[in-house]
Amino acid sequence: EAKHQGRGQCCLFAARMDESIKTRQLMASELRQALQQEKLQVYYQPLMNIDGSRVMGLEALLRWHHPGKGFVPPAEFIPIAEETGQIVQLGEWVLREACRVARQWPQLSIAVNVSPIQFRSAGFVERISEIVRSEQADSQQIELEITEGVLMDDTQEAKVIIDGLRAAGFRIALDDFGTGYSSLNYLSHFPVDKIKIDRSFIQSLDSGENATAIIESVVKLGHAMGLTVTAEGVETSSQMSALAEAGCNQLQGYLFSEAIPPDRIASLLSSGDYSG
Ligand code: C2E
Ligand code: MG
Ligand code: MG
Ligand code: MG
Repeated sequence: EAKHQGRGQCCLFAARMDESIKTRQLMASELRQALQQEKLQVYYQPLMNIDGSRVMGLEALLRWHHPGKGFVPPAEFIPIAEETGQIVQLGEWVLREACRVARQWPQLSIAVNVSPIQFRSAGFVERISEIVRSEQADSQQIELEITEGVLMDDTQEAKVIIDGLRAAGFRIALDDFGTGYSSLNYLSHFPVDKIKIDRSFIQSLDSGENATAIIESVVKLGHAMGLTVTAEGVETSSQMSALAEAGCNQLQGYLFSEAIPPDRIASLLSSGDYSG
């Protein structure tokens, strides 16, 4: 009986596996088509100064409006693009789009996310430098957001790549700071320009007192190392005041704006009203 049941569960499991592999394969091929047919879009979310009165920069975020499923969140399709290697092409396309926005708004810094797969792909530094050159943008205006995943594994190789990026003029931000295993350790080994405190810490501001202490010490540490400190996922004005109190430099979150299509950047910049 037990044996029989076990076999049944096993088959069910195998069937589900098969199903999920099919789903992923389908999504991968749809994603390839979407890129070819220009069905993907890059949206931009503002990074604000500490009192939310000025837009300092924009973060480029991929958007996929699937014909059947509607909006598919990046958390769902980026891992698939990473598995298939498509993320390299996708990431380069996002950078190209971002360069056009950068050229149009020279006063803003434009942040672009870099997947660990893309970061480790052969010729990464040269290829992205070439993209920026051919788009006639300024690499100094581009901020590359990396996560700890980029720094793990071969840390020596990672350091060479980061040095290459900085030599090419790019600025580096450490994204989702505090969520990995050894954020502090990485900070001491890799030269970055900015840390972005992960949204989970900002959310905790409302509940626990420790969050304030953690954020204050991250800000102090960042400043001692000459880094800009940004908070991501700021949703309430009480979070904003706590972050200002802690000495944070920049804020990003729904309190100001979600990511918007590029044709709305002009009105975002001219409205002067960013609080909802
Ligand atoms: P991320 O780089 O940490 O981007 C911030 C995410 O937080 C974005 O989600 C943004 O829409 C969301 N967010 C911003 N403010 C708030 C807020 O106040 N509250 C809440 N709840 N969320 C907020 P999104 O666009 O869904 O992207 C998720 C992740 O997907 C990104 O996290 C990034 O890791 C990845 N991603 C997005 N675009 C790209 C891309 O072009 N390349 C790569 N490699 N990854 C990307
Ligand atoms: Mg990011
Ligand atoms: Mg982030
Ligand atoms: Mg995050």
